[in-house]
Amino acid sequence: MQIAFAASECAPFSKTGGLADVVGSLPSALAQLGHKVTVYVPRYRSTKLENPKKAVSSITVPFDDRYRFCSVLDGGVRSGVQFYFIDYPPFFDREALYGTPLGDYHDNAERFDLFCRAVLEASKILGTPDLFHCHDWQTALIPILLETLYREDPAFSQTPCVFTIHNLGYQGLFPPEVLPLLMLPWDLFTMAKLEFYGKVNFLKGAIDAADYISTVSRKYAQEIQTAEYGFGLEGVLRARAATLVGILNGVDYTEWNPATDAMIAANYSADDLSGKAKCKQDLLKEFGLAHDTQWPVVGIVSRFAGQKGFDLIQHVADRMAREDLIVIALGTGDRAYEDMFRRLNKQYPQKFAVKIEFNNRLAHKIEAGADMFLMPSKYEPAGLNQLYGLKYGTVPIVRATGGLDDTVEQCDLATGKGTGFKFKEYSGEALLDTVKAAVVAFRNTQKWQQLMRNGMVQDYSWNTAAREYVKVYERAKQGRPISIAP
Ligand code: ADP
Repeated sequence: MQIAFAASECAPFSKTGGLADVVGSLPSALAQLGHKVTVYVPRYRSTKLENPKKAVSSITVPFDDRYRFCSVLDGGVRSGVQFYFIDYPPFFDREALYGTPLGDYHDNAERFDLFCRAVLEASKILGTPDLFHCHDWQTALIPILLETLYREDPAFSQTPCVFTIHNLGYQGLFPPEVLPLLMLPWDLFTMAKLEFYGKVNFLKGAIDAADYISTVSRKYAQEIQTAEYGFGLEGVLRARAATLVGILNGVDYTEWNPATDAMIAANYSADDLSGKAKCKQDLLKEFGLAHDTQWPVVGIVSRFAGQKGFDLIQHVADRMAREDLIVIALGTGDRAYEDMFRRLNKQYPQKFAVKIEFNNRLAHKIEAGADMFLMPSKYEPAGLNQLYGLKYGTVPIVRATGGLDDTVEQCDLATGKGTGFKFKEYSGEALLDTVKAAVVAFRNTQKWQQLMRNGMVQDYSWNTAAREYVKVYERAKQGRPISIAP
């Protein structure tokens, strides 16, 4: 099958979160199954391309009463996957992907409209796919355009669209006036289509227009159909339940494997854990902490966003500082949480260390050097860091939600079963109690190592997920509902 991926980020070219990891690794897993995959992404300022050739020198994108002209760069073939970059410097040659700490870029609707239209036009020149696989609100206009303005285009008459929701919290909400500017028909502005409390909601439109919808874990596929997790779209999602499936994200073990990772101080595996102690020392040194500690290191690598449960940490941080543990955090995002970690570091320099930056090398060092990995998320569609934590013997402490609930098995130290620590109630107390239990468990080295090994031998490679996606693609091609349970 010829599959065209469209996404707003893709590792290693551009990344703000897990979406980039997925778009960077699922296509090669599909290629290994014999499919031909093309990935379209914007070319940002941060996108590193060596001497890219132009694949298409000019694509016309209408906007309001004028045309814009972008080009497509050939990023070459990597692991059997063809990469193309939509190049339009006025929109994408910017400091960040979506916005600055002050807020989203004001023209995001236009930016990603141009991207989506350019992908459709480029694919007609570079090879019409059998199917589009689009990701998150930034590509939501592709299924919407296929259903509307491109409906009569013979190039796409047999081309279904699978749409994956990586995070329902980001929907692409814009004032209604964007519709005529983007040259979309006003009749899309109805409750059944894009209208959402007086605004235009791109994601809602894609949920309606896509042939199949997927999200990134089974649990999250159920959760988003409820008022608690549905962000107001639960009804729309329930209406599409027959064509909504949850497929758990995989891990690219060529990048995230302590046995081969070149970014960490020493390699180790479930059979020989000895290198992990060196990684811990190296991590402590990196964060300017004394490296002869007996205390466990609790690692955090995260976008500092409300979704990630930092309000719980805020609530109990001063009490956490009284425990025999060290917290090492890496992240960027909301000012309030950046300031919170800075304050904690100032007040408890031996207990809380933080680096406010996006740094992949440090992310690897934390996965390898920490003893525990903390993810107290309010909601978590899939979560990749806990999967990396499992592989690196860095025992996850998670809130039982979405993909975290699906992938971490509560440990039972008496039987030696399980892979981590979970709590259900979204409260600081529940978080603190669970961290305390982990700290106590850590003191029993033998049992702790069993727990580490239980996680390290889990297999969350892309192979299984890729096969599940293929089933969805096949059903989308045949135009019938999926029978695999959500
Ligand atoms: P989300 O997609 O919601 O941000 P995930 O856990 O699915 O959460 O994926 C986050 C990805 O982004 C992981 O690969 C993680 O290592 C990476 N990441 C997040 N913040 C940082 C950071 N400050 N520095 C380096 N990598 C980061």
